[in-house]
Amino acid sequence: MNIVIFGAPGSGKGTQSELIIENHGLHHVSTGDVLRDEIAKQSDLGKIADGYISKGYLMPDELIINILDRLLDEKIMKKGIIFDGFPRTVNQAEALQKMLNKYGQDVSVVIGLEVPEDELITRLVKRGRISGRFDDNEDTIKQRIQIYHKNTEPLADYYKQAGIYYPIKGIGTIDDIFKQIAGVLKSVSDKESGRQPA
Ligand code: AMP
Repeated sequence: MNIVIFGAPGSGKGTQSELIIENHGLHHVSTGDVLRDEIAKQSDLGKIADGYISKGYLMPDELIINILDRLLDEKIMKKGIIFDGFPRTVNQAEALQKMLNKYGQDVSVVIGLEVPEDELITRLVKRGRISGRFDDNEDTIKQRIQIYHKNTEPLADYYKQAGIYYPIKGIGTIDDIFKQIAGVLKSVSDKESGRQPA
């Protein structure tokens, strides 16, 4: 099963990805984590990424798609993947589809974490204070949310049309949100394996 975890910055994608991985043993692909690693290594890619991330802009599609293309291989594809923070544009979603098709696979399900905007800002400001993540400051947060609405949110419609988008209310306790996600994943995997839901 290949899962896309989808939502605005601060919607809980990383937290819920960890829980999904614990329970389903999937391979985690977080493009944000890959970029932060490159920044820490001060690689050429890291220097480019820093320029975009610190301003709250998205990295160019071509660069991100290349990173992903290099990351995927037979072994990872066999395990199944949770994509966290990718795709973020319709272009990226189309590229992802092509990359998965090369391995005879598809996106099985898109989990859309839906969280009101004031809650997103509160969470990100708090995360910035605790983790010191350099792009979690108020100006950059507002920019990232704006870009989310403009470039990323249209993807929800793209996946709704494909019939694989499952909205989840991303407020409440982490466990309650995870329970809703687990319910969706079970019904999707029952459907894929032709079983009747319990
Ligand atoms: P994240 O950790 O997913 O919130 O990503 C942090 C930052 O990395 C984003 O604000 C973007 O600048 C950049 N980034 C991560 N994933 C992508 C992507 N799929 N496309 C473009 N930029 C990305």
